[in-house]
Amino acid sequence: PSGQVVYCGRDMQRTYAMIKPDGVRRQLTARILQRFIDKGYRVIGLKQLVIPRELAEQHYAEHRERPFFGELVDFITSGPVVAIALEGENVITGLRAMMGATNPKDAAPGTIRADHATTIGENVIHGSANEEDAARELGLFFGDAELLR
Ligand code: UDP
Repeated sequence: PSGQVVYCGRDMQRTYAMIKPDGVRRQLTARILQRFIDKGYRVIGLKQLVIPRELAEQHYAEHRERPFFGELVDFITSGPVVAIALEGENVITGLRAMMGATNPKDAAPGTIRADHATTIGENVIHGSANEEDAARELGLFFGDAELLR
């Protein structure tokens, strides 16, 4: 009766998205942010930074033993990234769908990686894989006071 609709469904989530140094270098920041906004996600945190090596190693800790770990850390610290906190209904899987497969060769048409990336190493965008990673990664890159309520 008040005419005001307040959504507080169970599927409301937060996730961590990051435009990688290749994406920033190639000036893709604005159009990637626009995709998120068009999709209906709310940008609740946003900053550009060069990731300190130690933070990069923490962020990618699950890959520490993989052969590409050193290159991955070199790449992700090679220039500024754009750190983004997103909120929306089912945003964790929604963002992953918008990104496309890790290897751009396998990424579905219309996804960010299919449209903008060429190699598995430099694939433009990061998005948390699941709820646990989302909470962990948001905590690595944003303080509570840096996120909108
Ligand atoms: N990566 C790589 N070589 C590989 C697999 C992954 O360089 O063989 C890099 C790539 O940048 C990828 C990141 O490591 O985005 C994290 O890998 P993950 O499997 O978590 O893929 P994502 O979740 O980013 O799709």
